[in-house]
Amino acid sequence: MAATVIDGREVARLVREEVRQEVEALVAQTGVAPGLATVLVGEDPASAVYVAGKHRACAEAGIASIHHPLPAGASHEELAELLHALNADPAVSGILLQLPVPDHLEGSALTALIDPEKDVDGLTPISAGRLAQGVPGLRPCTPSGVIELLRRHEVELTGAEAVVVGRSDLVGKPLAALLLQGNATVTVCHSRTRELPDACRRADVLVAAVGIARLVRGDWVKPGAAVIDVGINRLPEGLVGDVDFDGARERAGLITPVPGGVGPMTIAMLLRNTVSAARAQALVRAPS
Ligand code: NAD
Repeated sequence: MAATVIDGREVARLVREEVRQEVEALVAQTGVAPGLATVLVGEDPASAVYVAGKHRACAEAGIASIHHPLPAGASHEELAELLHALNADPAVSGILLQLPVPDHLEGSALTALIDPEKDVDGLTPISAGRLAQGVPGLRPCTPSGVIELLRRHEVELTGAEAVVVGRSDLVGKPLAALLLQGNATVTVCHSRTRELPDACRRADVLVAAVGIARLVRGDWVKPGAAVIDVGINRLPEGLVGDVDFDGARERAGLITPVPGGVGPMTIAMLLRNTVSAARAQALVRAPS
């Protein structure tokens, strides 16, 4: 039987609507709208499109957004100064440094300068440490989008065999930590994994986050598994994921398409992180 195809756009719309209501409640309570500051270095067209999409989504949710474009030649010191100023600005609830930054800069060193309470991308070492220890904190957006899709489709994680293909700091590692926190038994596969097909065949929940078009074949999928495809690969015929969708949907119980699966969830979770950060900051500022 063919799998149920997850409608990521619809789930993302529901999350964004929830965020809009949370923003309304927060404004009613504190009189201040959450604010997202975006920092973009240089003029990479793809990054500019992503940032513009984030601003549009903020506006729809009632979140104020402030863009800080810097020239491609900006120095580490200039960026550090801007990030410190945004850390100190009470109108800024969340800070997003759009990656990748130009080659003369070091993205991870700059990210580490962001106040963890405003780290709405969840990528600072403090946020990663909080996630690893399972204590509250801001979680990376794409991995938490994956968890949200699984949760809304009532996929049981407790005791499930979860296999994550890919071990990046952005997706694979934080996702493995979130699945572990959900009590799954987690295997992380990567470019040096032996017998990748066999590892995948054990998965009740199989996530591909690699960046190789249709790497995961249909016959790697355990019958009835939930298959989540994070990959985005641009081929002449259009966008495709890391999973061979047509083959995998014949065996999976649940599967995300590309596009329209995980992709739309990333911005939705960024908005959710921004309102969560704003709420936490409002609590800190509230008189006791
Ligand atoms: P990355 O390049 O940082 O990491 C890729 C990972 O895949 C590495 O850990 C590597 O070990 C592993 N890998 C490489 N070749 C492999 C192989 N043959 N077998 C098994 N594992 C292999 O990539 P990333 O940033 O984690 O992104 C992964 C994919 O997800 C990309 O296609 C990216 O565009 C996409 N992505 C999508 C979203 C979204 O919003 N949907 C967000 C982030 C990334």
